[in-house]
Amino acid sequence: MFELQIIRTKIEKCTLCQIHSLRNKTVPGEGNGEPEIMFIGEAPGKNEDLQGKPFVGAAGKILDQLLSSINLSRNEVFITNLIKCRPPNNRDPIDQEIYNCANFLNEQIELLKPKMIVTLGRYSFSRFFPDKFISQDRGKLFKWKNVFIYPVYHPAAALRNSSIKIKLEQDFLGIIKSLQKIKLSFL
Ligand code: URA
Repeated sequence: MFELQIIRTKIEKCTLCQIHSLRNKTVPGEGNGEPEIMFIGEAPGKNEDLQGKPFVGAAGKILDQLLSSINLSRNEVFITNLIKCRPPNNRDPIDQEIYNCANFLNEQIELLKPKMIVTLGRYSFSRFFPDKFISQDRGKLFKWKNVFIYPVYHPAAALRNSSIKIKLEQDFLGIIKSLQKIKLSFL
């Protein structure tokens, strides 16, 4: 899609954050150009920075398993991150980086018009709902502008904690049911 390519190019040229000088590749996100569901993670890691693709490392393997558990493939959805460059040593994204990248993400959401955004991890959720807590609100639907936000834990957290993995699996099962509710305008 031409407009997606325009956003990609703007991201590639962006030098707003200091971390731009450390990157190998920007990671704009990829997937379906007309997705019902969009996934938003935090930031690229080492593998993502090398390949320019989102979630291609260990957390990506978990995400792939979760997607296949609900019969979704990567090319049916769109996967991106809050910020499009890798923070050094995989540190968390800082507020200024999230702010600098906000327009790119807003443009992607406006262009792709997903019915539902699944936020992966607390940073991504609090970008939309700064006063809510992922531990309390995971697996629930919240309206933001004209899209529904469905927060879940970050797949990388499931690598470290088996009880989080179980919750993540349960919450993924809720994605399809929630999408059906949205489509049938139960909400
Ligand atoms: N973690 C994220 O939040 N995003 C990626 O793309 C990879 C790991």
